[in-house]
Amino acid sequence: MAISKRLQARLRPEDVVARIGGDEFVTVVKQVTSLADAMSTAERLLLGFESPFRLRGSDVYSSASIGLVFADPANPSLDPESLIRDADTAMYQAKAAGRDGIAVFDMSMRDRVAERLVLEQDLRTALDAGELHLHFQPIVRLSDETVEGLEALLRWVHPTRGLISPATVIPIAEETGLIIEIGAWVIEEAAREVRRWRRMPGAEHLYVAVNLSARQLRDPRLVERVATTLADQHLEPAALCLELTESMLMEDPVGASQTLHQLRDLGVRLSLDDFGTGYSSLSYLKRFPVDEVKIDRSFVDGLDAPDSSEASLVAAIVAMARALGMKTVAEGVELPIQAQRLRELGADQVQGYLYARPVGPESVPGTLARLGAKRYAALPDIA
Ligand code: C2E
Ligand code: MG
Ligand code: MG
Repeated sequence: MAISKRLQARLRPEDVVARIGGDEFVTVVKQVTSLADAMSTAERLLLGFESPFRLRGSDVYSSASIGLVFADPANPSLDPESLIRDADTAMYQAKAAGRDGIAVFDMSMRDRVAERLVLEQDLRTALDAGELHLHFQPIVRLSDETVEGLEALLRWVHPTRGLISPATVIPIAEETGLIIEIGAWVIEEAAREVRRWRRMPGAEHLYVAVNLSARQLRDPRLVERVATTLADQHLEPAALCLELTESMLMEDPVGASQTLHQLRDLGVRLSLDDFGTGYSSLSYLKRFPVDEVKIDRSFVDGLDAPDSSEASLVAAIVAMARALGMKTVAEGVELPIQAQRLRELGADQVQGYLYARPVGPESVPGTLARLGAKRYAALPDIA
């Protein structure tokens, strides 16, 4: 109600303000003749969110994302439903670009929505059709360059569109709920693979890291599923590491903490992925039983420049992790200088193209052998 009042106060009396559900409002602004006009109206509406709302004695800040669509009188085929749908599409675009944004609808957005619908349909059958695969990327201990584990990364090879990135697949899988089935498959498949690798000499302690998504973490069957998979594969729990992100934990800190404790009790490792990009709240971190934090690639990127601010941030994350008894893994290491800096800064493990790109399961033994060989070559007294 407070929001609708603020919207109304920034529009003319003849304009419409309506709430169409949840946290979504529609305004119909009449007699707008130019894009500049429409933009300034939208910007004015955003300004209405600058000051906090007073709710039960406390200040609550809110933001808005605005999707803008023109009802072109030259195109009478545009019925109100299509207009609202297009505005909605633009609004999602604005949201995706970050909070407090404005996006103007254009036809390419409709194509993107259509494209997405097609992918959504195709994803429903992808698993059964054998189009989903896992690639694996080694996680290397910095002190002696031993491969300690591998991260499983989802690949969708679409029959006509080719390789589709997990950045596209995972959000669709989340929204449709398919992530539960796909995620369970990923865990099973990764468990099967790590069990095979562990039969290789010297690889008995290898683990596999699997990314979890928000919806999987909320799934009440998750813990039981993980336990069943481990039992079916006769796999020691430490052979599995589950990666989560801070934002997933923040969605429902109490529930997440419970689930994490149950997973921890099973004996699986827990890892905090993309650390540094979210809330990075120390007090929160203490509440979750995680074994390690993965320092996001964005920090590693800047490490090749001397005295970078990234270096102090990495040092701070390493110190904090140590204080909490956690290890650190640096992601996206591409240059020897970055590995060198990370070693100086005290990171425990690294992962990145410098060591290996993600590879298909058939190439894992070869990749392990190559990395192992590199290690021995670096020690002249052994060679
Ligand atoms: P992530 O878990 O942070 O995975 C690391 C990403 O960085 C991977 O991208 C990997 O291929 C890429 N990468 C590794 N080393 C380097 C490097 O040296 N340089 C650069 N530029 N990139 C590097 P990918 O495979 O495209 O996966 C993207 C994200 O998708 C993952 O980020 C993860 O959040 C998500 N994802 C992947 N597979 C799964 C899955 O099975 N389930 C879920 N829920 N999410 C997944
Ligand atoms: Mg990950
Ligand atoms: Mg990551």
